[in-house]
Amino acid sequence: MPAPSPFASMLPLPALPTSLKQAITRGIVGKCPRCEEGKLFARFLKPAPHCSACGQDWSHHRADDFPPYVSIFLTGHLLAPVIIALASSDALPLWACVALCMALGAAIMLALLQPAKGGIIALQWWLGMHGFNPAGRDEARTRQP
Ligand SMILES: [Zn+2]
Repeated sequence: MPAPSPFASMLPLPALPTSLKQAITRGIVGKCPRCEEGKLFARFLKPAPHCSACGQDWSHHRADDFPPYVSIFLTGHLLAPVIIALASSDALPLWACVALCMALGAAIMLALLQPAKGGIIALQWWLGMHGFNPAGRDEARTRQP
């Protein structure tokens, strides 16, 4: 794991989020919730150990099973009307409805997995959970004019 840059304290202050919503939005789009400059993910579901722009250590996150839970929950709610519409019509045979819903469900669930994890990491950072110190919320409050 690469160490944060020793010059991180000499970098200009990042544009800290002003609210939880802004921090989560940054995480959902895969940007650093703290500065919005660096990438949050090194690979599909592997967060970068440190932000390349502001040096924030992301190794403290403990998203665990929460991103898949959120992703599956949202997929179910998005797919329910489609399933009901397909089941109530005679346009497709049953096997085609099942195949279509399973493929669509897997695609939606995978598409939502990384944004869910980014949002949850941002939430944990904002609340100062699991070793994120100082808490993002407190850091943003003390640095705002
Ligand atoms: Zn950053």
